[in-house]
Amino acid sequence: MLNRDFFPKAVPARPTGHYAHIILLRETESYALFQTDGELNTARVPAGTKPDDGIITRITMFKRKQTTPERLVGRELLRRYGLIAEDKTKKTDDMPFCDYNVDFCKQCPDCIAYGFAIGDAGSEKSKVYSDTAYSLTAFEYSHEAFTLNAPYESGTMSRQGEVTSRINEQDHVRPQVIFPAVIATRDLTFPLFTYVLNNVLRARRYGAQTTRTGTMTNHLIGIALTDGDIFSNLYFTQRLYDALREQGIDLSEPVNAHSALAVAANLVPDLLAEDRVVVSQWLSGAELDQFLAETFAADETAMQTLLKAAYNDSKQYAHTYVLKSAKGKS
Ligand SMILES: [Zn+2]
Repeated sequence: MLNRDFFPKAVPARPTGHYAHIILLRETESYALFQTDGELNTARVPAGTKPDDGIITRITMFKRKQTTPERLVGRELLRRYGLIAEDKTKKTDDMPFCDYNVDFCKQCPDCIAYGFAIGDAGSEKSKVYSDTAYSLTAFEYSHEAFTLNAPYESGTMSRQGEVTSRINEQDHVRPQVIFPAVIATRDLTFPLFTYVLNNVLRARRYGAQTTRTGTMTNHLIGIALTDGDIFSNLYFTQRLYDALREQGIDLSEPVNAHSALAVAANLVPDLLAEDRVVVSQWLSGAELDQFLAETFAADETAMQTLLKAAYNDSKQYAHTYVLKSAKGKS
């Protein structure tokens, strides 16, 4: 089981080095759009970390494309279980109204864990850190161009080796493209950590949504409790790329997520050791499954208990540090 004693009993005012890292493979399960200005976001980076790996173009998934859907999942649940109000008229002393990016309540688990910024009215730093994620496989094997009239046409753009920007054409990320990712949480209490983890496990819809595109599954590899920050998404992606190639896996074809998960589960302890952080616990495999089954029991009472515990901790932090200072300033 995950060591609860590792987590602070209350969210501290200053950083105290309690890092709980959620390490996962994000996998598209339908056609997704991670774009700004009408084109998929990409980056030219080394394929792996070996001298002969060469440079490839990878699809990138920016930080906000990852965190926003996860935050919205949690906020929906807070409303579903009556911890934040559905609208302003229903708010009470115990149930604040919290409007994303418009009118943050500054005390719910979402506001405290992920942070907020509302101009002069104050801000709270995020305690959940994520970074741009990169596709495991190259852009040319990981995308497909759709036209408006045809269902889709494949291959043409990759054969030309350049991105066209014809108005009636739109690049989509193919199904079963893998984005290795690390989500670091710092100094969260155990209930607030489970709140964040629950969001990650339940979020399904990422990227720009047209009709039914954008479905992803987050495959959890493990949870690492450490005293410091660890490897980046890009480095993890490159090392996983190398490790899969060593196993003879063809990275010009969709990679089976379960093969990638097995290889990643072996790789992560090595990467953690290289980072020279103190690893209090690395939870994966059967023990992780047991922890998830017990913590996220699929019934309403258990979910309400989980959310309430997270809310108690965020409220306590808010009343000690956030709401007080906001009042003091005005
Ligand atoms: Zn809030």
